Amino acid sequence: METCEFLNTCPVFSGLLANKPQEAAAVKEKFCQSSCLHCAIYMVGSALGASKMPGDLDPTDKGRAYEIIAQG
Ligand code: SF4
Repeated sequence: METCEFLNTCPVFSGLLANKPQEAAAVKEKFCQSSCLHCAIYMVGSALGASKMPGDLDPTDKGRAYEIIAQG
């Protein structure tokens, strides 16, 4: 899988993961550079557009991603 198309602009790194370099590195390895389709933020971005991607959403929280997508 290619690197996530949102990596350079993803709001989670200035939001939820700001000042958390170890967690940010883990997310990049687990999601951004391997399986972004499984990332909750990616799900929102691909469904609603990059401008709707929440910076406070945990990449593992697919349940909340579905709620955000349902609300549009
Ligand atoms: S956290 Fe998710 S949406 Fe953001 S760059 Fe990584 S894979 Fe893409």
